[in-house]
Amino acid sequence: MTFGELELIPLLDGFFRLDGGAMFGTVPKVLWERRAPADAKNRILLGLRPLVVRGAQTMIIDAGIGDKMDPKSREIYGIDRAADLDASLAAAGLTAGDIEIVLATHLHFDHAGGFTARDRSGALAPRFPNARYVVRTGEWEDATHPHERNRASYLPENFLPLMEAGVLDLVPGDAAIMPGVRVVRTGGHTMHHQIVFIESGGRTAVFAADLMPTAAHVSEPWIMAYDLYPMDTLAFKRQFVREAIARDFLVLFEHDPAIAAGRIREEGGRLRVEPAAD
Ligand SMILES: [Zn+2]
Repeated sequence: MTFGELELIPLLDGFFRLDGGAMFGTVPKVLWERRAPADAKNRILLGLRPLVVRGAQTMIIDAGIGDKMDPKSREIYGIDRAADLDASLAAAGLTAGDIEIVLATHLHFDHAGGFTARDRSGALAPRFPNARYVVRTGEWEDATHPHERNRASYLPENFLPLMEAGVLDLVPGDAAIMPGVRVVRTGGHTMHHQIVFIESGGRTAVFAADLMPTAAHVSEPWIMAYDLYPMDTLAFKRQFVREAIARDFLVLFEHDPAIAAGRIREEGGRLRVEPAAD
């Protein structure tokens, strides 16, 4: 996908499953199951879609769920990595060694799982050997000081090895990470959850991460029960959706099982996503 001076390459690290009720918060199942059919365990199918941005440098935003999960967790989350990040990078003509910046939206395991990998001896190491890893300072603090509500989402094996290897760059606020790419804090999902604005040639693409994990989440009250601060999600999403429609943003949906990117449209007071032809 050519985007002004930049190239955007949506990747796939496979699929996983989460409880449909948790994914849609207060929305009743009779409504959400039309958009996302549940399996026998009430789980819905979700994609794992990191994004490569090629410009002044080669960046990856989030890195999927990775390959360190034990069999029990793989079963709980229905992880299917028949198509994984390495295959997806190879299809784009890239290897892990080509990535120069790894940018985290937040450090939950379905976003940061691919940040590290085990070497042949079983030791944990950064999975992208030539990359600096960029993490928001507040998110790092929260991930390394978890509480009962978020502990299951923050697995130290995904991020502590980055600190130990000296490849971590903590960024305290909204900032440009490379030309045309900047982060904006949304809060909501986590206190320091951030999305990524990609701007070139007068156009804007936004990697929406867990602000709107799937196209079904563009509707304002469709907010995950996982969000720690759901009213902050609502406030941010309300203004973001208005801006996305007015300025014709290309929105990238990290967890949609089918739609990697699209544009938000409003018809008769209803919001929908028009998938982008790449
Ligand atoms: Zn997520």
